Amino acid sequence: MRGTASIFLPVLLIPLATLLQAQGTPPPSPLTMVSREGRRPVPTTIVGNQELIALDEVAALFQVAVREDTLAGGLTLTYRGRTVVVSTNQPMASVAGRLVALPSAPVRSGQRWLVPVELLPRALAPIYDARIELRRPSRLLLVGDVRVPRVTARIDAPGPPTRATVEIAPAAPVTVTTEAGRVVLRVDADALDLNLPGDGAALIDQFRAGEQPTAVAVVLDGRAGAARAIPSEAGGVTRVALEVAAAATADAAPAPPPAPAPLPAAVAAPAFLFAPRPVLLTIVVDPGHGGDDIGARGAGGAEEKRITLELSRRLRMLIETRLGIRVILTRDDDRRVSLDDRAAVANNNKADLFLSLHLNAAPVPDVAGAEVLYLRLDDEGEEARRAAETESVSLPVLGGARRTLDVLRWDLAQARHVDASTVLATVLEEELRAQITMSPRPRLQVPLRVLTGVNMPAALIEMAYLTNPADERRAQSDDFQAGVAQGIYNAVLRFRSYLEAQRQP
Ligand SMILES: [Zn+2]
Repeated sequence: MRGTASIFLPVLLIPLATLLQAQGTPPPSPLTMVSREGRRPVPTTIVGNQELIALDEVAALFQVAVREDTLAGGLTLTYRGRTVVVSTNQPMASVAGRLVALPSAPVRSGQRWLVPVELLPRALAPIYDARIELRRPSRLLLVGDVRVPRVTARIDAPGPPTRATVEIAPAAPVTVTTEAGRVVLRVDADALDLNLPGDGAALIDQFRAGEQPTAVAVVLDGRAGAARAIPSEAGGVTRVALEVAAAATADAAPAPPPAPAPLPAAVAAPAFLFAPRPVLLTIVVDPGHGGDDIGARGAGGAEEKRITLELSRRLRMLIETRLGIRVILTRDDDRRVSLDDRAAVANNNKADLFLSLHLNAAPVPDVAGAEVLYLRLDDEGEEARRAAETESVSLPVLGGARRTLDVLRWDLAQARHVDASTVLATVLEEELRAQITMSPRPRLQVPLRVLTGVNMPAALIEMAYLTNPADERRAQSDDFQAGVAQGIYNAVLRFRSYLEAQRQP
């Protein structure tokens, strides 16, 4: 039998490998890895509609040991004693014992295994000791603490003068140079996440990447005269206000040329003027309790109200400086705030996400670990949710009458966000688990008064039990607080991707 197999093996395997390799095509634009060490292209290949990366590339890029475990039907990635097992026949990986979904199963190509690039942020990042963030639309893979602001541009008025704004978030210093026919903005950053509209309007022909990786070029039209660019910074965002005047026609001495043809309609109303608002602009973080309402208290004297405030401030710093998302706290000092006022802060600021931070207490000291809570609807809330979907259901009210639900009741505002909040709670649980110990009931759907009134996806995090002595000690440590902040930060990134995917038609 052995002899026969050795004759047939090459015949059977080579065509299969060739077939798989032939199916793969390079992506339209390469993926670029940006780290403290610089930029480098990451070779990937498109098979079907999945972007795949070879596991030996992953091993080389991230110093990960890769091993194929044929018995278990898995591929093992090990980094500093931490392990990810990728199933070879199912689109999932096990990360420190937890299952993580991947868009497709690995594909064998000759001697190599190809895995979806999403493996990097979803499965490798939780065991890695630096940030791994995949920004698909801008083709960037960010590793470690790198500054990669998003750059957007828009025409404010075609003019003349043509007015435009380039926004850099989070804020970064910008140097402006005006050259013949263009304005160049050089940004002090490790790389730029460019989201430029391409075509301009009127006296601005184009916004495009500059010759250097951290420069943006604003290409002026042939009819443009003097251009001014004034950077300013507010709310964590740098804005460069551009103003381009028309060339002085008086200079064109003998006979001024005839008036230019009217601008085509596409220029008069460029599509990018209606570019959708980013899905995550504002997050409200709610430090539980405050003032005479201390919340839970540990035997060692730790107070819930203090730790929730410390963590909220830390989280605000992390999210605002790294993501350029505005973070508002429902209290920034030691005072009592009613639950309705907390919801009002979020609703009035039109927040896109509400996170309430707490620490737990139990009657017995051995209960420990973190829990993520999100709203469960009672019957009335469930009707409100259906009504929010169909807009045709009426609710029963006292006395047997029914009232049409054209305006969702304020105290049931959360009803329409239950699906998104479920996703939010799931990513929070997964990302927190990579950082801290979770309780045996890590995710709970409960009727929560503080969440019912917020009109946006929302979750409440019980970070630890102050009634458990080990948890109480941990909760006050820098390591734990940094871990919670990082876990929530990672979850916010994933939730933003979810919201972006939801919005695509
Ligand atoms: Zn609490």
